[in-house]
Amino acid sequence: MTSALPYANGSIHIGHLVEYIQTDIWVRFQKMRGHRCHYVCADDTHGTPIMLRAEQEGITPEALIERVHGEHFRDFSDFQIEFDNYHSTHSDENRELSQDIYRRLDRAGLITRRTIEQLYDPEKEMFLSDRFIKGGCPKCKAGEQYGDSCEVCGATYAPTDLIKPYSVLSGATPVTRESEHHFFKLGECEDFLKEWLDPAGKAAPLQLEAANKMNEWFAAGLRDWDISRDAPYFGFEIPDASGKFLYVWLDAPVGYMASFKNLCEKEGLEFDSYWQPDSDAELYHFIGKDILYFHALFWPATLKYAGYRTPTKICVHGFLTVDGQKMSKSRGTFIMARTYLDHLNPEYLRYYFAAKLSERIEDIDLNLEDFTARVNSNLVGKYINIASRSAGFISKRFDGQLATALDADGAKMVAGIQAQAEQIAARFEARQFSEAMREIMALADQANEYVSDKAPWVMAKEAGQEQPLHQVCTAIINAFRVLTIYLKPVLPKLAAEVEAFLNIKPLQWCDVSELLTDHTINNYKHLMKRIEQKQIDAMLEASAATLQQAKPSPARHGEAQQKKTAKVKKETMTSDSDHTIQFDDFAKIDLRIAKIVKADHVEGADKLLQLTLDIGEEKPRNVFAGIKSAYSPEQLEGKLTVMVANLAPRKMRFGLSEGMVLAAGPGGKSLWILEPHEGAQPGMKVK
Ligand SMILES: [Zn+2]
Repeated sequence: MTSALPYANGSIHIGHLVEYIQTDIWVRFQKMRGHRCHYVCADDTHGTPIMLRAEQEGITPEALIERVHGEHFRDFSDFQIEFDNYHSTHSDENRELSQDIYRRLDRAGLITRRTIEQLYDPEKEMFLSDRFIKGGCPKCKAGEQYGDSCEVCGATYAPTDLIKPYSVLSGATPVTRESEHHFFKLGECEDFLKEWLDPAGKAAPLQLEAANKMNEWFAAGLRDWDISRDAPYFGFEIPDASGKFLYVWLDAPVGYMASFKNLCEKEGLEFDSYWQPDSDAELYHFIGKDILYFHALFWPATLKYAGYRTPTKICVHGFLTVDGQKMSKSRGTFIMARTYLDHLNPEYLRYYFAAKLSERIEDIDLNLEDFTARVNSNLVGKYINIASRSAGFISKRFDGQLATALDADGAKMVAGIQAQAEQIAARFEARQFSEAMREIMALADQANEYVSDKAPWVMAKEAGQEQPLHQVCTAIINAFRVLTIYLKPVLPKLAAEVEAFLNIKPLQWCDVSELLTDHTINNYKHLMKRIEQKQIDAMLEASAATLQQAKPSPARHGEAQQKKTAKVKKETMTSDSDHTIQFDDFAKIDLRIAKIVKADHVEGADKLLQLTLDIGEEKPRNVFAGIKSAYSPEQLEGKLTVMVANLAPRKMRFGLSEGMVLAAGPGGKSLWILEPHEGAQPGMKVK
């Protein structure tokens, strides 16, 4: 089993974690079922962005990737992602395998060499990929567009079509140069790929939606794949071709094999028996929908024609949104793994993702209110509470000893929970985690009903109820134990704490059918706390602060300054106040003419007025503005002003503020809101 390899030029964020948590849950489930599994991954370390980032930091690429490797590994470990091996694509195993695969493909007649024309940066002395060239859009003439497509009008074109193109790296005007490139003849693999996608009588390796996408690609025709890059490049050299390197996307998936090979060497496993064409081992790749093309076309074809086995299944997932929107730096919802860990228990997120993930390729949303509610009411309220409502009696009244038998109702209740084991296992197997979580919580409800019906706290006060109380509490502990087995793939750390509390060996799936009786358990310590709103707020605040400090990535910002020295570069990146911006930075702000249809005082707020603003939308916007010191509501109603319409909504004590009005002046009485000249209409864009 593999998860996609994270790229070694940045930190892990919660969007990445969807995949690692999904894979980890599945792997842990398989291991609990008694299967022998190897979960491998690695950092993806090659390519131009790594080379440039290292250069910018004044270190070697090797030093950069080593640092990031440590950081990634710590983040994953703290989220309880348990790889059997976490390697690097910049390894001897990967060099040998990648170069060997290239040779095998060449021998199979699937490599062709062609001379192509490409833009070249004469100052930086390197070829430029489309992303490193900017210029005017040949269609709409908008400035500052990338070499492949225009973000203003959507036109696509060749970088050579740009008006006044320049290199993002040096500012120099690129020149056209010829270079020989190596191509993988993907088109010749079409028959094989169709056979792999739809093998007669066999389980298909892709979800339906992904298979449909493949068919679209087949219909459009498979083009040769450019797998070489010219020096300078950080990667592996192509055998017998001086100055040519393997494109990072060729050696990255080989990194799965290389990581596994490294594991084989450590653990004495037989590499070939897993990778030869007739291997009966199964191979599962978990990936995001954005890299399907590489994994479903290039990768199986590469493996097949290099003489290896092909993937059993490629499990594709969607992206993460936060509160219904793309993760956003300004809203603080672009949350790094480490920022989350600084404020919240990782198992909250594991549980929440499990409660949202299905076998389908759909995006999932982290709704922060729902996140808090589900963790608090389901995980803590329903599941953890089962233990906390009975454990005290076992330790205080029965010296930690469980009863030798359950009462009839208790036995029935526990049997009902045990009876769902195969159904829940089937949900995990099919990656229907959200269904599994729903069914597990329904079982927790049954256990809680039993607790409420029996009311052990009442029994404890009545005379002659010692034995029934003992049996009831023992049944409750048993229900908790079975639910813990079901949740263990999702909550491994919590399960380990439960095992310590119950004084038992690590739970396996087959332990479901057993009963824990006549056994001494340890004192109960509270296992999991509720989420408090202030933790979420603190995380969002820290997240916004972290990202403001973060350096903008060199590929997208500050290119005009990059000609100057490193020292100057640093200054321009940190001082934002007098930094000139590009037009597209300004264009991100959606300024609108707004009509103040209503203005009100806000009870309990001495600086704010509540404005109801019409900007031509169906529903007027509610905005809290700190202008009370200068205006009374009567002065404002009916007037036009200018508002920032795409500012992230902000939750305030008094309600949601959905934008911002603009005003000049230092504050207090000296504050003047903007007003357009006569004729402007509500909703007009200010540009
Ligand atoms: Zn354009």
